[in-house]
Amino acid sequence: MKDMTINPAIPFDLPPLFEGQHMINGTWQDSASGETFERRSPSHGHTVSRSALGGEAEAEAAIQAARTAFDSGAWSRASGKERATVLLKVADLIEQNVDRIAVIETLESGKPISQARGEVGGAADLWRYAASLARSTHGDSHNTLGADMMGVVLKEPIGVVSIITPWNFPFWILSQKLPFALAAGCTVVVKPSEMTPSTTLMLGELLIEAGLPAGVCNIVLGHGVPVGSVLSTHQAVDMVSFTGSTAVGKTISSVASDTLKKVALELGGKNPQVIFPDADLESAADAVVFGVYFNVGQCCNSSSRIIVHEDIAEAFTKRVVDLSRKVKFGDPMDPTTQVGAIVTPEHNAKIDAYVKDAQAAGAEIAMGGDRLQVEGLGDQFYQPTIVTNVQPDMPIARDEVFGPVLTVLTFKTLDEAVALTNDSIYGLSAGVWSTNVHTCLEFARRAEAGTVWTNTWMDGFPEVAFGGVKQSGQGREIGQYGFEEFFEVKSVVMRIGDSRAPWVSQD
Ligand code: NAD
Repeated sequence: MKDMTINPAIPFDLPPLFEGQHMINGTWQDSASGETFERRSPSHGHTVSRSALGGEAEAEAAIQAARTAFDSGAWSRASGKERATVLLKVADLIEQNVDRIAVIETLESGKPISQARGEVGGAADLWRYAASLARSTHGDSHNTLGADMMGVVLKEPIGVVSIITPWNFPFWILSQKLPFALAAGCTVVVKPSEMTPSTTLMLGELLIEAGLPAGVCNIVLGHGVPVGSVLSTHQAVDMVSFTGSTAVGKTISSVASDTLKKVALELGGKNPQVIFPDADLESAADAVVFGVYFNVGQCCNSSSRIIVHEDIAEAFTKRVVDLSRKVKFGDPMDPTTQVGAIVTPEHNAKIDAYVKDAQAAGAEIAMGGDRLQVEGLGDQFYQPTIVTNVQPDMPIARDEVFGPVLTVLTFKTLDEAVALTNDSIYGLSAGVWSTNVHTCLEFARRAEAGTVWTNTWMDGFPEVAFGGVKQSGQGREIGQYGFEEFFEVKSVVMRIGDSRAPWVSQD
C-alpha cells in the first residue's frame, strides 16, 4: 500500500499580481505613507498580491466614513426591501465571479481550488439568507399594560461595526458577518488578515457594483497593530465582530472595554469526535479523516482529537490510517487535490514541534509526523499525521495545533467520554457517533460546545447559529441568533389619552 497520496505541481497560468487599495467612503485609496506589503503564495512561492499598508490614518478615515454614513440614515433607516435588494444583487455577483475570486483565495491561503470554489460559491447563500432577514426584522409589542398604556420594543441597528477576520476562510467568514450586519442596517469597517487581503477587496468591488451607498462598507488593509487595534478601541465604533485566535480575542475584549463597545468573538477550538462501538464505523472513520485534514487542519472546527471506545480503538485507528493514505495532499491548483499548503513556514515549524514534543513525551506516530515535500512546490506542506498513546495532559491533546494532526484518546464509559470532551479550555464543537439515539442525546446535552454533531461532522446552514462557549468565543454568528447580535433594543412606552396623574401636587 502507498504511504500517502501526493499530487505534484501541475502547470497553470499565474494570474497577474493583484494590487490592493483601501476602500474608504466608496473610493479606492493608497496609504498616506505610500507603504505596501506583499503576500507570497504558501504553495507556489510567488508574490500573489501587493496591498496598501494601512495605519492609524486609514483606520480613522474609514471609521469616520462609516460613522457619517450611519448617521446620515441612508442605509441605517432604509427599508428592509431596499437593503435586501442590494444583498441579493451581491449574491448574484458573487456567483458570477466564483472562479476569479477562488484562484486568488487559493494562491493566498494555500487551500485547494475545489474548496475555494465551494467556499466562495457557497457564501452567496449566506448573502441570500441575510437578505431574507432584512425584510422580516421586527420587535415586540405590549398590549396588556392597561387600558391607557401601550409599549413597543424596537430593534435598531447597533451602529458602526468593526469586522476583523482571519486568513483561514477569508471569504466565508466575512460572509458570516458582513451581510448580517448590513441587513440589520449597520455600517462597517472591515480589516481582513494581512495574509489573505485580496478576496475581501474583490467582494468590495462587488458591493460597489451592487449599489451599496458609499461609506456603508469600508475596507482597511494592514496588520492587527495598528489597524485592528484602532478598530477595537475607537470611540465611534459601537461593536467589534472578530474571528481569530483566542489570544487576540482576549486582547480585543480587554481594549474594547474602555469604551464598553459590544464584542462578539469567534475563536479557537480543540474539537473532539467521540466514537462508540455501535456506530457506523465506516462513516465515522471517513468523517474523522475529513474533520482533521479539511483546510490542512487550519480550521477552527478541526476535529483534532478523537475519543474512541477502547474496545474498537485499535481497529478504528487502523481504518483512519488506511483512509488517510488515500487523501490527496499536494498542489492546491490541481482540482483533485483535497489538502493544500500550510499558511507560513513558521506555522509549519510550530506544527512539527507539537508532534516531535509529543513523541519525545512517549506518544507514538501511527502515520506521518513530518513536513511534506511536494514535487515542484517545496516543503511548506505537512504530512497527514496520526498520534496515538497520547495522554490527556500533553500539549498536543490540549492546544489548537492547527495542522493535519490527529490525536487519539480512549474511553470506557459515556461519563468518561463526556469528561474528556469537556476537559478543555475550548468549547467550539463536538461530535458523537452511535446508532443509539439515547447515547447521542445524552452526549449532546452534556458536551460543553456551541455545536454538537451527531453521526455527522461540520454540516452547517445559514439558518443554524454558530459559535463557541468557554474560550472559543462569545456571541453567535449566522441564523436568527447571529443576526440579533447587530441590534440594539429600544423600548417605547406610550400613554393613550390624558390619564396621567400629576406627580407634583396642584394645591
Ligand atoms: P489571528 O488572531 O492571528 O488574526 C486574526 C485577525 O486579527 C487578523 O486580521 C489580524 O491581523 C488581526 N489582529 C491581530 N492582532 C490584533 C490586535 N491586537 N487587535 C486587533 N486585531 C488584531 O488569527 P489567524 O491566525 O488569522 O486565524 C486563526 C485563528 O482563528 C485560529 O485560532 C482559529 O481557530 C480561529 N478561527 C476561529 C473561527 C470560529 O468561527 N470560531 C473561524 C476561523 C478561525
